Amino acid sequence: MRVAGSPFCKVVTSHLPRMHHPSAFRLMSIAGGLKNSPIFRSLGLIGGKWIGAHDGNTLKVNNPSTGEIIANVPFMGGRETNDAISSAYDAFNSWSKITAAERSKYLRNWYDLIMSHKEELGQLITLEQGKPLKEALGEVSYGASFIEFFAEEAKRVYGDIIPATLADRRLFVLKQPVGVVGAITPWNFPLAMITRKVGPALACGCTVVVKPSELTPLTALAAAELALQAGIPPGVLNVVMGNAPDIGDALLASPQVRKITFTGSTAVGKKLMTGAAGTVKRLSLELGGNAPCIVFDDADLDVAVKGALAAKFRNSGQTCVCANRVIVQEGIYEKFAEAFSKAVQNLQVGDGFTEGVVQGPLINEAAVQKVESFIQDAVSKGAKVILGGKRHSLGMTFYEPTVVTDVRSEMLLAREEVFGPVAPLLRFKTEEEAIRIANDTNAGLAAYIFTNNVRRTWRVSEALDYGLVGVNEGIISTEVAPFGGVKQSGLGREGSKYGIDEYLELKYICLGDMTRK
Ligand code: NAP
Repeated sequence: MRVAGSPFCKVVTSHLPRMHHPSAFRLMSIAGGLKNSPIFRSLGLIGGKWIGAHDGNTLKVNNPSTGEIIANVPFMGGRETNDAISSAYDAFNSWSKITAAERSKYLRNWYDLIMSHKEELGQLITLEQGKPLKEALGEVSYGASFIEFFAEEAKRVYGDIIPATLADRRLFVLKQPVGVVGAITPWNFPLAMITRKVGPALACGCTVVVKPSELTPLTALAAAELALQAGIPPGVLNVVMGNAPDIGDALLASPQVRKITFTGSTAVGKKLMTGAAGTVKRLSLELGGNAPCIVFDDADLDVAVKGALAAKFRNSGQTCVCANRVIVQEGIYEKFAEAFSKAVQNLQVGDGFTEGVVQGPLINEAAVQKVESFIQDAVSKGAKVILGGKRHSLGMTFYEPTVVTDVRSEMLLAREEVFGPVAPLLRFKTEEEAIRIANDTNAGLAAYIFTNNVRRTWRVSEALDYGLVGVNEGIISTEVAPFGGVKQSGLGREGSKYGIDEYLELKYICLGDMTRK
């Protein structure tokens, strides 16, 4: 939310604090406690210094659960971004030249510090993003795992020796860091989407300018503070936030920035792809999904319900790998719908700091309106809401966990990411039809299948046009496996041994005249 008085003023009255909220005072004390924490930062980080916007403009960061303003952070733009690029460019000279073992040690220190501040980072995520604390703590461990993994991987960036085609030659392949990286990240994983990029970038010698979402900058700043405490030199990691298009344009325009890595919507990803052409930059894009979750007649019902529930309702349905279409075979459709609805009904909605809550608020009012319009569209075309389907009585941006049956492929619920706690159930007859429905989208990130037939597992996994496939499992992301999409879900992979290649250039070196004594 931008601050009143700035040219970007936007007053959203539904975000005013609800002081009658039963836990409002406890939440304010958590926020107060965090503000006194040594990792709490509310300025940008450029060249190792905490800095405000050059014109003093700020933007407000609020708690989506209560509307409480947690902090004001600088509303930066092109000027500050160019400063951050210069500092990253200078730091690249030395950071890329120290040994891999030294970089590995810095990253390991950073990992240890993140884990020793797990509780505070988790609270910060819940405070600014809204996800339940248990899930937020899970994100801290998941986010930290990328730093640990790439601290280890830093030492394994091997080159190659190629058998020469001429006797007097020796041919080598050297892997070198691409240079300064611009990393633009979304609000739904305020820590993990940053560490998944910064871990491998720093491991191989790149330096980075991070632009977190304006909705969740505090976790990014806290992580950057811990990077400084870990001894990572000034300028290696910079953080700017504020005017997203201006910051993006500055990163795109600079010839010093050699790579853009982006996680976010497909629409913004396409803009960045166009903009990167001007300076022919490397690009990694982790974009939107439209994950099918296919439940076959031969699936174990309990496993399918548990897996679909996890795949759909994590972070209140606000992840790129969330099951967006639950596609169920006709023989098990009614039974599944009933068992699944029962399980969804038990999901406790509320503030993320409340014990037992598994569904927090949606990120903002626009997100709720999007969900409402998708439901309206589906109902007007014949779908049936069998559970939920409206705003939660808690108010704010809380939405009831919802199950909709009789959804068909032409409805918005099946065509686009709903990014909310709504499970649309589609029906199919044959395996071929399930694959056709699943692949009938421009997205291609995650897909899930539930079946007890091993041959079908292989057949369907191979036929799905997706970068990730979960079989009888709804939560599949891990730092050791490659994460990324095909089609319009993106380019490149993050995590795993493959993830580091995104930050490396190959250099071929040919030594001639090698047989002369
Ligand atoms: P978004 O609107 O595209 O924003 C993502 C980031 O881009 C934010 O930091 C945003 O800044 C910035 N941005 C917006 N416009 C920009 C511009 N013109 N130039 C440069 N940067 C710009 O996406 P979101 O709503 O935050 O995130 C949800 C989307 O991310 C969903 O589609 C989801 O599927 C996708 N996602 C994908 C993955 C994956 O790994 N494939 C993972 C998580 C999320 P501000 O927020 O400051 O405006």
